[in-house]
Amino acid sequence: MISREPDLLLVRYGELALKGNNRIDFERRLANNIRVALEPLAPAKVERHWGRMIVRIERRAEVAARRLQDVFGISSISPAWRAELDAEAITVLAEQVFDEALAEHARPGPLRFRVRTSRSEKHFPLTSVELDRTVGGRLKARDPRLVVDLDEPEVVLGIDVRAEGAFVFARRLAGPGGLPVGTLGRALSLISGGIDSPVASWLATKRGLSLAYVTFHSAPFIGESAKKKVIDLVRALSRFQPRHSRLWVVPFAAVQVAIRDVGTPAYRTVLYRRMMQRIACRLAEREEAHALITGESLGQVASQTLENLTCIQAAATLPVIRPLIAFDKEETIRLARRIGTFDLSSVQEPDCCTLFMPDKPVIRGKRELCDELEAKFDVARLAEEAHANAELVSIPPEA
Ligand code: ATP
Ligand code: MG
Repeated sequence: MISREPDLLLVRYGELALKGNNRIDFERRLANNIRVALEPLAPAKVERHWGRMIVRIERRAEVAARRLQDVFGISSISPAWRAELDAEAITVLAEQVFDEALAEHARPGPLRFRVRTSRSEKHFPLTSVELDRTVGGRLKARDPRLVVDLDEPEVVLGIDVRAEGAFVFARRLAGPGGLPVGTLGRALSLISGGIDSPVASWLATKRGLSLAYVTFHSAPFIGESAKKKVIDLVRALSRFQPRHSRLWVVPFAAVQVAIRDVGTPAYRTVLYRRMMQRIACRLAEREEAHALITGESLGQVASQTLENLTCIQAAATLPVIRPLIAFDKEETIRLARRIGTFDLSSVQEPDCCTLFMPDKPVIRGKRELCDELEAKFDVARLAEEAHANAELVSIPPEA
Protein backbone atom coordinates (compact mmCIF):
# COMPACT_ATOMS: atom_id res chain seq x y z
CA MET A 1 0.00 0.00 0.00
CA ILE A 2 1.31 3.44 -0.82
CA SER A 3 1.29 5.88 2.05
CA ARG A 4 2.59 9.11 0.54
CA GLU A 5 0.48 11.65 -1.34
CA PRO A 6 0.45 11.29 -5.13
CA ASP A 7 3.27 13.17 -6.90
CA LEU A 8 0.94 14.45 -9.59
CA LEU A 9 -2.50 14.13 -11.14
CA LEU A 10 -3.10 13.03 -14.71
CA VAL A 11 -6.16 14.76 -16.09
CA ARG A 12 -7.95 13.54 -19.21
CA TYR A 13 -10.46 15.52 -21.17
CA GLY A 14 -12.79 14.77 -24.04
CA GLU A 15 -11.41 16.91 -26.81
CA LEU A 16 -12.49 14.60 -29.64
CA ALA A 17 -14.83 17.03 -31.33
CA LEU A 18 -12.46 19.97 -31.04
CA LYS A 19 -10.30 21.37 -33.76
CA GLY A 20 -7.95 24.29 -34.29
CA ASN A 21 -8.63 27.39 -32.25
CA ASN A 22 -11.51 25.79 -30.37
CA ARG A 23 -9.15 23.25 -29.02
CA ILE A 24 -6.58 25.81 -27.96
CA ASP A 25 -9.28 27.84 -26.20
CA PHE A 26 -10.67 24.70 -24.57
CA GLU A 27 -7.26 23.68 -23.22
CA ARG A 28 -6.30 27.14 -22.07
CA ARG A 29 -9.60 27.60 -20.21
CA LEU A 30 -9.43 24.18 -18.69
CA ALA A 31 -5.88 24.71 -17.42
CA ASN A 32 -6.92 28.03 -15.94
CA ASN A 33 -10.10 26.65 -14.36
CA ILE A 34 -8.08 23.83 -12.80
CA ARG A 35 -5.61 26.29 -11.27
CA VAL A 36 -8.44 28.44 -9.90
CA ALA A 37 -10.28 25.44 -8.45
CA LEU A 38 -7.15 24.28 -6.64
CA GLU A 39 -6.09 27.73 -5.43
CA PRO A 40 -7.64 27.34 -1.95
CA LEU A 41 -5.77 24.03 -1.47
CA ALA A 42 -2.21 24.78 -2.59
CA PRO A 43 -0.34 26.34 -5.50
CA ALA A 44 -0.62 24.10 -8.57
CA LYS A 45 1.15 23.91 -11.91
CA VAL A 46 -0.73 22.67 -14.94
CA GLU A 47 1.07 21.42 -18.05
CA ARG A 48 -0.60 20.44 -21.27
CA HIS A 49 0.82 17.30 -22.67
CA TRP A 50 -0.38 15.20 -25.58
CA GLY A 51 -4.09 15.57 -25.07
CA ARG A 52 -3.78 15.32 -21.29
CA MET A 53 -2.88 17.61 -18.47
CA ILE A 54 -0.39 17.01 -15.75
CA VAL A 55 -1.24 18.77 -12.52
CA ARG A 56 1.47 19.19 -9.91
CA ILE A 57 0.31 20.47 -6.58
CA GLU A 58 2.57 21.15 -3.62
CA ARG A 59 0.40 19.27 -1.13
CA ARG A 60 -3.06 17.70 -0.62
CA ALA A 61 -3.03 15.96 -3.98
CA GLU A 62 -5.74 13.47 -2.93
CA VAL A 63 -8.14 16.25 -1.96
CA ALA A 64 -7.21 18.04 -5.17
CA ALA A 65 -8.10 14.97 -7.24
CA ARG A 66 -11.59 14.94 -5.72
CA ARG A 67 -11.94 18.68 -6.20
CA LEU A 68 -11.25 18.24 -9.93
CA GLN A 69 -14.23 15.88 -10.18
CA ASP A 70 -16.34 19.05 -10.26
CA VAL A 71 -14.36 20.91 -12.93
CA PHE A 72 -16.24 20.81 -16.23
CA GLY A 73 -14.35 19.60 -19.26
CA ILE A 74 -12.52 16.87 -17.31
CA SER A 75 -13.40 13.29 -18.18
CA SER A 76 -11.20 11.54 -15.61
CA ILE A 77 -8.41 12.04 -13.10
CA SER A 78 -5.71 9.60 -12.04
CA PRO A 79 -3.54 10.25 -9.01
CA ALA A 80 -0.02 9.15 -10.06
CA TRP A 81 3.35 8.52 -8.48
CA ARG A 82 6.79 8.95 -10.03
CA ALA A 83 9.57 6.34 -10.22
CA GLU A 84 13.11 6.57 -11.60
CA LEU A 85 13.56 5.19 -15.12
CA ASP A 86 14.51 1.74 -13.99
CA ALA A 87 12.45 -1.43 -14.46
CA GLU A 88 12.90 -2.60 -10.87
CA ALA A 89 12.03 0.79 -9.36
CA ILE A 90 8.94 0.97 -11.57
CA THR A 91 7.84 -2.51 -10.58
CA VAL A 92 8.20 -1.89 -6.85
CA LEU A 93 6.18 1.29 -7.13
CA ALA A 94 3.61 -0.48 -9.34
CA GLU A 95 3.04 -3.09 -6.62
CA GLN A 96 2.27 -0.43 -4.04
CA VAL A 97 0.04 1.62 -6.32
CA PHE A 98 -1.79 -1.46 -7.50
CA ASP A 99 -2.49 -2.65 -3.94
CA GLU A 100 -4.16 0.63 -3.22
CA ALA A 101 -6.44 0.26 -6.25
CA LEU A 102 -7.20 -3.35 -5.30
CA ALA A 103 -8.55 -2.19 -1.96
CA GLU A 104 -11.54 -0.88 -3.93
CA HIS A 105 -12.21 -4.41 -5.24
CA ALA A 106 -12.13 -6.28 -1.97
CA ARG A 107 -14.25 -9.33 -2.83
CA PRO A 108 -13.52 -13.01 -3.36
CA GLY A 109 -13.14 -14.50 -6.83
CA PRO A 110 -11.01 -13.72 -9.87
CA LEU A 111 -10.16 -10.14 -10.75
CA ARG A 112 -9.36 -9.12 -14.32
CA PHE A 113 -6.46 -6.72 -14.76
CA ARG A 114 -3.87 -5.51 -17.18
CA VAL A 115 -0.85 -3.26 -17.35
CA ARG A 116 -0.79 -0.56 -20.01
CA THR A 117 2.48 1.22 -20.69
CA SER A 118 2.83 4.25 -22.91
CA ARG A 119 6.27 5.45 -23.78
CA SER A 120 7.23 8.93 -24.91
CA GLU A 121 10.84 8.44 -23.76
CA LYS A 122 12.44 6.26 -26.39
CA HIS A 123 15.73 5.67 -24.59
CA PHE A 124 14.23 3.33 -22.04
CA PRO A 125 15.63 -0.21 -22.64
CA LEU A 126 12.28 -2.09 -22.52
CA THR A 127 9.49 -1.72 -25.08
CA SER A 128 5.96 -1.00 -23.84
CA VAL A 129 4.94 -4.62 -24.23
CA GLU A 130 8.02 -5.86 -22.41
CA LEU A 131 7.36 -3.55 -19.51
CA ASP A 132 3.67 -4.62 -19.44
CA ARG A 133 4.79 -8.24 -19.15
CA THR A 134 7.51 -7.66 -16.57
CA VAL A 135 5.29 -5.65 -14.26
CA GLY A 136 2.16 -7.72 -14.95
CA GLY A 137 4.01 -10.94 -14.16
CA ARG A 138 5.21 -9.61 -10.82
CA LEU A 139 1.77 -8.34 -9.83
CA LYS A 140 0.14 -11.64 -10.72
CA ALA A 141 2.71 -13.65 -8.77
CA ARG A 142 1.68 -11.78 -5.57
CA ASP A 143 -2.06 -12.44 -5.77
CA PRO A 144 -3.66 -15.67 -7.04
CA ARG A 145 -6.96 -13.87 -7.72
CA LEU A 146 -5.50 -11.91 -10.61
CA VAL A 147 -6.19 -12.86 -14.24
CA VAL A 148 -4.78 -10.91 -17.14
CA ASP A 149 -7.51 -9.60 -19.42
CA LEU A 150 -6.40 -7.19 -22.12
CA ASP A 151 -9.89 -6.42 -23.42
CA GLU A 152 -12.12 -6.04 -20.38
CA PRO A 153 -9.92 -5.39 -17.36
CA GLU A 154 -11.51 -4.26 -14.10
CA VAL A 155 -8.30 -2.62 -12.95
CA VAL A 156 -5.67 -1.09 -15.21
CA LEU A 157 -2.21 -0.29 -13.96
CA GLY A 158 -0.95 2.54 -16.13
CA ILE A 159 2.70 3.41 -16.68
CA ASP A 160 3.80 6.52 -18.57
CA VAL A 161 7.48 6.39 -19.41
CA ARG A 162 8.79 9.91 -19.87
CA ALA A 163 12.13 11.68 -19.88
CA GLU A 164 11.67 12.88 -16.28
CA GLY A 165 10.68 9.45 -14.93
CA ALA A 166 7.84 6.93 -15.04
CA PHE A 167 4.37 7.86 -13.82
CA VAL A 168 2.46 4.99 -12.30
CA PHE A 169 -1.28 5.03 -11.62
CA ALA A 170 -4.21 2.66 -11.16
CA ARG A 171 -7.22 4.63 -10.03
CA ARG A 172 -9.41 6.61 -12.36
CA LEU A 173 -11.81 9.09 -10.77
CA ALA A 174 -14.69 10.17 -12.99
CA GLY A 175 -14.81 13.83 -14.02
CA PRO A 176 -18.07 15.61 -14.75
CA GLY A 177 -17.51 15.85 -18.53
CA GLY A 178 -18.93 18.86 -20.36
CA LEU A 179 -16.95 21.86 -21.54
CA PRO A 180 -14.72 24.21 -19.52
CA VAL A 181 -16.74 27.05 -18.02
CA GLY A 182 -16.26 30.17 -20.13
CA THR A 183 -15.62 28.51 -23.48
CA LEU A 184 -19.18 29.14 -24.66
CA GLY A 185 -19.56 32.69 -23.34
CA ARG A 186 -21.78 34.12 -20.66
CA ALA A 187 -25.48 33.86 -19.76
CA LEU A 188 -27.79 35.11 -17.01
CA SER A 189 -29.63 32.47 -15.03
CA LEU A 190 -33.03 33.18 -13.45
CA ILE A 191 -32.78 31.38 -10.15
CA SER A 192 -35.55 30.89 -7.60
CA GLY A 193 -35.32 28.88 -4.41
CA GLY A 194 -36.94 25.91 -6.21
CA ILE A 195 -35.46 22.61 -7.25
CA ASP A 196 -35.40 23.26 -10.98
CA SER A 197 -33.49 26.46 -11.65
CA PRO A 198 -30.33 25.40 -9.76
CA VAL A 199 -30.22 22.19 -11.82
CA ALA A 200 -30.81 24.16 -15.03
CA SER A 201 -27.94 26.46 -14.02
CA TRP A 202 -25.65 23.52 -13.40
CA LEU A 203 -26.45 22.06 -16.83
CA ALA A 204 -25.77 25.40 -18.52
CA THR A 205 -22.40 25.64 -16.75
CA LYS A 206 -21.66 22.08 -17.77
CA ARG A 207 -21.96 23.10 -21.40
CA GLY A 208 -19.32 25.78 -21.00
CA LEU A 209 -21.41 28.83 -20.13
CA SER A 210 -20.19 31.15 -17.44
CA LEU A 211 -23.19 32.36 -15.42
CA ALA A 212 -24.37 35.41 -13.59
CA TYR A 213 -27.59 35.01 -11.60
CA VAL A 214 -30.74 37.00 -10.99
CA THR A 215 -33.45 36.38 -8.43
CA PHE A 216 -36.71 38.30 -7.93
CA HIS A 217 -37.64 39.04 -4.37
CA SER A 218 -40.97 40.26 -2.99
CA ALA A 219 -39.92 42.17 0.12
CA PRO A 220 -41.69 43.28 2.27
CA PHE A 221 -44.37 40.64 1.53
CA ILE A 222 -41.78 37.89 1.70
CA GLY A 223 -38.94 37.81 4.22
CA GLU A 224 -35.17 37.99 3.94
CA SER A 225 -34.79 34.25 4.50
CA ALA A 226 -36.10 33.56 0.99
CA LYS A 227 -33.28 35.67 -0.37
CA LYS A 228 -30.76 33.93 1.86
CA LYS A 229 -31.92 30.61 0.49
CA VAL A 230 -31.07 31.70 -3.06
CA ILE A 231 -27.67 32.97 -1.91
CA ASP A 232 -27.00 29.55 -0.37
CA LEU A 233 -27.93 27.87 -3.65
CA VAL A 234 -25.66 30.11 -5.70
CA ARG A 235 -22.87 29.42 -3.23
CA ALA A 236 -23.33 25.67 -3.71
CA LEU A 237 -23.32 26.15 -7.49
CA SER A 238 -20.24 28.33 -7.44
CA ARG A 239 -18.23 25.19 -6.75
CA PHE A 240 -18.70 24.40 -10.43
CA GLN A 241 -17.64 27.78 -11.71
CA PRO A 242 -14.28 29.47 -11.26
CA ARG A 243 -14.09 32.56 -9.04
CA HIS A 244 -16.96 34.55 -7.54
CA SER A 245 -20.55 34.31 -8.71
CA ARG A 246 -22.57 37.47 -9.17
CA LEU A 247 -26.20 37.43 -8.05
CA TRP A 248 -28.60 40.28 -8.78
CA VAL A 249 -31.42 40.54 -6.26
CA VAL A 250 -34.29 42.45 -7.87
CA PRO A 251 -37.08 44.01 -5.78
CA PHE A 252 -40.23 42.72 -7.43
CA ALA A 253 -43.10 43.65 -5.10
CA ALA A 254 -44.00 46.91 -6.88
CA VAL A 255 -44.30 45.04 -10.18
CA GLN A 256 -46.53 42.44 -8.56
CA VAL A 257 -48.78 45.02 -6.96
CA ALA A 258 -49.21 46.75 -10.35
CA ILE A 259 -50.10 43.44 -11.99
CA ARG A 260 -52.52 42.59 -9.20
CA ASP A 261 -54.28 45.91 -9.66
CA VAL A 262 -54.88 45.24 -13.34
CA GLY A 263 -57.36 42.48 -12.49
CA THR A 264 -57.67 39.25 -14.54
CA PRO A 265 -55.98 37.21 -11.78
CA ALA A 266 -55.58 34.15 -14.01
CA TYR A 267 -52.87 35.97 -15.95
CA ARG A 268 -50.80 37.04 -12.96
CA THR A 269 -48.17 34.33 -13.12
CA VAL A 270 -47.62 34.75 -16.85
CA LEU A 271 -47.38 38.52 -16.45
CA TYR A 272 -44.93 38.16 -13.55
CA ARG A 273 -42.78 35.97 -15.75
CA ARG A 274 -42.92 38.41 -18.63
CA MET A 275 -41.71 41.20 -16.38
CA MET A 276 -38.93 38.94 -15.14
CA GLN A 277 -37.77 38.41 -18.74
CA ARG A 278 -37.70 42.14 -19.43
CA ILE A 279 -35.75 43.01 -16.31
CA ALA A 280 -33.40 40.07 -16.77
CA CYS A 281 -32.64 41.11 -20.34
CA ARG A 282 -31.58 44.54 -19.12
CA LEU A 283 -29.36 43.07 -16.42
CA ALA A 284 -27.91 40.68 -18.99
CA GLU A 285 -26.67 43.68 -20.92
CA ARG A 286 -24.80 44.87 -17.83
CA GLU A 287 -23.33 41.41 -17.36
CA GLU A 288 -22.40 41.07 -21.04
CA ALA A 289 -24.54 37.95 -21.04
CA HIS A 290 -26.05 36.78 -24.30
CA ALA A 291 -28.85 34.46 -23.22
CA LEU A 292 -31.19 33.76 -20.31
CA ILE A 293 -31.37 30.39 -18.55
CA THR A 294 -34.53 29.19 -16.79
CA GLY A 295 -35.64 26.01 -15.03
CA GLU A 296 -38.82 25.70 -17.06
CA SER A 297 -39.88 22.27 -18.23
CA LEU A 298 -42.69 21.62 -20.67
CA GLY A 299 -46.00 20.85 -19.00
CA GLN A 300 -44.62 20.60 -15.48
CA VAL A 301 -46.96 23.18 -14.00
CA ALA A 302 -49.82 25.26 -15.39
CA SER A 303 -47.55 28.16 -16.24
CA GLN A 304 -45.33 25.95 -18.40
CA THR A 305 -47.62 24.95 -21.26
CA LEU A 306 -46.41 25.70 -24.76
CA GLU A 307 -48.85 28.62 -25.00
CA ASN A 308 -47.68 30.14 -21.73
CA LEU A 309 -44.01 29.64 -22.50
CA THR A 310 -44.66 31.40 -25.81
CA CYS A 311 -46.25 34.36 -23.99
CA ILE A 312 -43.29 34.49 -21.60
CA GLN A 313 -40.65 34.15 -24.31
CA ALA A 314 -42.22 37.01 -26.31
CA ALA A 315 -41.19 39.48 -23.61
CA ALA A 316 -37.51 38.54 -23.86
CA THR A 317 -35.15 40.19 -26.30
CA LEU A 318 -32.50 37.50 -25.77
CA PRO A 319 -32.68 33.77 -26.46
CA VAL A 320 -34.09 31.83 -23.49
CA ILE A 321 -32.36 28.50 -22.92
CA ARG A 322 -34.29 25.91 -20.90
CA PRO A 323 -31.96 23.00 -20.13
CA LEU A 324 -34.76 21.08 -18.35
CA ILE A 325 -37.35 21.40 -21.10
CA ALA A 326 -37.76 17.63 -21.50
CA PHE A 327 -36.88 16.49 -17.98
CA ASP A 328 -39.30 14.62 -15.72
CA LYS A 329 -39.41 15.93 -12.17
CA GLU A 330 -37.79 12.71 -10.88
CA GLU A 331 -34.85 13.18 -13.23
CA THR A 332 -34.37 16.73 -12.04
CA ILE A 333 -34.55 15.66 -8.40
CA ARG A 334 -31.97 12.94 -8.96
CA LEU A 335 -29.60 15.44 -10.49
CA ALA A 336 -30.30 17.99 -7.75
CA ARG A 337 -29.26 15.39 -5.17
CA ARG A 338 -26.11 14.57 -7.07
CA ILE A 339 -24.93 18.15 -7.39
CA GLY A 340 -25.81 18.99 -3.80
CA THR A 341 -28.65 21.50 -4.25
CA PHE A 342 -31.63 19.32 -3.34
CA ASP A 343 -31.45 19.75 0.43
CA LEU A 344 -31.04 23.51 0.11
CA SER A 345 -33.98 23.72 -2.28
CA SER A 346 -36.12 21.60 0.04
CA VAL A 347 -36.03 24.13 2.86
CA GLN A 348 -39.54 25.55 2.99
CA GLU A 349 -39.59 29.21 2.00
CA PRO A 350 -42.35 31.17 0.26
CA ASP A 351 -41.59 31.92 -3.39
CA CYS A 352 -42.23 35.37 -4.81
CA CYS A 353 -44.71 33.90 -7.28
CA THR A 354 -47.05 32.69 -4.55
CA LEU A 355 -47.86 36.34 -3.88
CA PHE A 356 -51.45 37.20 -4.92
CA MET A 357 -51.70 33.75 -6.44
CA PRO A 358 -55.00 33.13 -8.28
CA ASP A 359 -57.05 29.95 -7.71
CA LYS A 360 -57.10 29.12 -11.40
CA PRO A 361 -54.10 30.26 -13.40
CA VAL A 362 -54.50 30.42 -17.17
CA ILE A 363 -53.39 27.28 -19.00
CA ARG A 364 -53.45 28.51 -22.58
CA GLY A 365 -52.38 32.12 -22.31
CA LYS A 366 -52.90 34.44 -25.26
CA ARG A 367 -50.28 36.95 -26.23
CA GLU A 368 -52.78 39.59 -27.33
CA LEU A 369 -54.41 39.50 -23.91
CA CYS A 370 -51.01 39.85 -22.23
CA ASP A 371 -50.35 42.94 -24.35
CA GLU A 372 -53.80 44.33 -23.54
CA LEU A 373 -53.32 43.88 -19.79
CA GLU A 374 -49.85 45.36 -19.89
CA ALA A 375 -51.21 48.48 -21.60
CA LYS A 376 -52.95 49.20 -18.29
CA PHE A 377 -49.79 49.83 -16.29
CA ASP A 378 -46.42 51.43 -16.91
CA VAL A 379 -44.35 48.42 -17.93
CA ALA A 380 -41.29 50.42 -18.96
CA ARG A 381 -41.12 52.49 -15.80
CA LEU A 382 -41.61 49.52 -13.47
CA ALA A 383 -38.99 47.49 -15.30
CA GLU A 384 -36.60 50.42 -15.20
CA GLU A 385 -37.12 50.97 -11.47
CA ALA A 386 -36.70 47.31 -10.59
CA HIS A 387 -33.57 47.17 -12.69
CA ALA A 388 -32.16 50.35 -11.17
CA ASN A 389 -32.80 49.11 -7.62
CA ALA A 390 -31.28 45.68 -8.15
CA GLU A 391 -28.69 44.80 -5.53
CA LEU A 392 -25.54 42.93 -6.51
CA VAL A 393 -24.30 40.18 -4.20
CA SER A 394 -20.87 38.69 -4.89
CA ILE A 395 -20.61 35.11 -3.70
CA PRO A 396 -17.28 33.35 -3.21
CA PRO A 397 -17.03 29.63 -3.96
CA GLU A 398 -17.79 27.22 -1.12
CA ALA A 399 -14.60 26.30 0.70
P1 ATP B 1 -38.01 26.34 -9.85
O1 ATP B 1 -37.98 25.01 -9.17
O2 ATP B 1 -36.71 26.72 -10.50
O3 ATP B 1 -38.60 27.43 -9.03
P2 ATP B 1 -40.52 25.72 -11.00
O4 ATP B 1 -40.70 24.39 -11.62
O5 ATP B 1 -41.02 25.97 -9.63
O6 ATP B 1 -38.99 26.12 -11.09
P3 ATP B 1 -41.71 28.16 -11.79
O7 ATP B 1 -41.84 28.54 -10.38
O8 ATP B 1 -42.88 28.23 -12.70
O9 ATP B 1 -41.18 26.71 -12.01
O10 ATP B 1 -40.56 29.03 -12.42
C1 ATP B 1 -40.10 28.81 -13.73
C2 ATP B 1 -38.74 29.44 -13.88
O11 ATP B 1 -38.82 30.87 -13.77
C3 ATP B 1 -37.78 29.03 -12.78
O12 ATP B 1 -37.17 27.80 -13.04
C4 ATP B 1 -36.81 30.18 -12.77
O13 ATP B 1 -35.86 30.05 -13.83
C5 ATP B 1 -37.71 31.36 -13.07
N1 ATP B 1 -38.18 31.95 -11.79
C6 ATP B 1 -39.32 31.72 -11.11
N2 ATP B 1 -39.37 32.44 -9.99
C7 ATP B 1 -38.24 33.16 -9.93
C8 ATP B 1 -37.69 34.10 -9.01
N3 ATP B 1 -38.31 34.45 -7.90
N4 ATP B 1 -36.48 34.65 -9.30
C9 ATP B 1 -35.82 34.28 -10.42
N5 ATP B 1 -36.29 33.42 -11.32
C10 ATP B 1 -37.48 32.84 -11.08
MG1 MG C 1 -40.59 27.79 -8.48
